[in-house]
Amino acid sequence: MEDKNNLDRHVDSLHNLLEKELTGDFRKEFLEIHPYDQAMFFRKQTQEARLQIYTYLSPEEIAEIMENIELEETEIFFTEMDPRFASMVLAEMPADDAVDILNGLEKDAVASFLTIMDKSAAEEIKELLHYEEKTAGSIMTTEYVSVYKMNTVKETMQQMKRKAPDAETIYYMYVLDENKHLVGVLSLRDLIIADEDVLISTIMSEHVVTVSVGRDQEEIAQMMRDYDFLALPVIDFQNHLLGIITVDDIMDVMEEEASDDYSKLAAISNIDRPDDGPVESAKKRLPWLIILLFLGMMTASLIGSFEETLEQVAVLAIFIPLIAGMAGNTGTQSLAVAVRGIATGGYGKQGKMKLIIREATTGLITGVVCGIVIIAVIYLWKGELFLGILVGISIMVTLVVATLSGALIPLAMDRLNIDPAVASGPFITTLNDLTSILIYFGMATTFMQFLL
Ligand code: ATP
Ligand code: MG
Repeated sequence: MEDKNNLDRHVDSLHNLLEKELTGDFRKEFLEIHPYDQAMFFRKQTQEARLQIYTYLSPEEIAEIMENIELEETEIFFTEMDPRFASMVLAEMPADDAVDILNGLEKDAVASFLTIMDKSAAEEIKELLHYEEKTAGSIMTTEYVSVYKMNTVKETMQQMKRKAPDAETIYYMYVLDENKHLVGVLSLRDLIIADEDVLISTIMSEHVVTVSVGRDQEEIAQMMRDYDFLALPVIDFQNHLLGIITVDDIMDVMEEEASDDYSKLAAISNIDRPDDGPVESAKKRLPWLIILLFLGMMTASLIGSFEETLEQVAVLAIFIPLIAGMAGNTGTQSLAVAVRGIATGGYGKQGKMKLIIREATTGLITGVVCGIVIIAVIYLWKGELFLGILVGISIMVTLVVATLSGALIPLAMDRLNIDPAVASGPFITTLNDLTSILIYFGMATTFMQFLL
């Protein structure tokens, strides 16, 4: 049976070859594995081993590895490489990826890389460096395939043979007129199935979906999902084609935005990074925790105000954590759903109503089921039917309220133009603690005579 993953099978022998400095054998085995696995092997090596690997591989081969490594990690590799070698690696990478890496380096380093680099690669990169971060311009690549509307299919096929090796994707061809305006698009499939003699202008589609160069990357991710294209063309205000954004760049964007949203959901500021020191992290989290501390104090004093009720029926206290906990759990569940919905495009008026009704119904169903279960448990355990009913109904009401608030609060925040991901999990949990305790003791106090 084969239970080692692709990389594990090679790790020992690769280490061995590095140690014995068998360049040729190392190259042979290393280059055979998938670039992703190469990257995973490479990043786990000591600096000494990495420096050795740079001398065994070509800039092109290292570029392939770098494309498979998380952006934040690449910085250290490019700083430890010989600058001349590093600039050759950058020149071999797709221009948009190279720009992403350069954006994370010191200004001086960037300038010196660009001066040593091959002229045409440097030009391309410099152009992309101008665009603002997180916009279409900064994530697009200029390595697209353009064709001309007055050419025939046959001529275009021949051009494609020349252009294909360097393009980021060849599946879509963007059609330009004499002034380099974007006037149409066709897919490789459209080209292949067409007759040789027809003009591109007759088979292209003229309704091109485009993004303008300053468009926010999150909106582009949304468009990519809606239209289901593998790439989108980026244009300037005069409808000149500047570059394309491919679906793999968008996947990185989605991951980035999702982890941003997730950090906020956990009440960690979005600048809290995995490589921060403990003091740094603490500083960023403390403001939230202090606010939550005060909210928690309010819950405590609320319980205090029901002291009389508690004194008379002490057993009520046993169920406080249960009820508050359930409120927190269900609130976080519906919060996650609502935040995700808002982050991936938001809800229309109808969508909001649908979400609210659905969450209310879900709250009711889960509430009734949990309520019945707890009534049965308390009755069997304590032999107290009325206490069971009180706790059961409290749980039911609490679940409805908490589930609804998990959806309503982010929607309201979105309406007020506050990023709903900031309506963080812990915040909702603490808020639901408050309301659930209020419901529980409110009911207990009202129906006190049945408990005694
Ligand atoms: P189909 O889905 O029609 O079988 P396909 O799977 O080969 O085609 P898709 O990626 O689904 O290719 O693209 C469908 C059509 O969309 C292609 O004919 C292509 O020319 C066109 N197209 C590609 N990009 C754009 C764009 N940005 N705007 C408008 N149309 C586009
Ligand atoms: Mg298709």
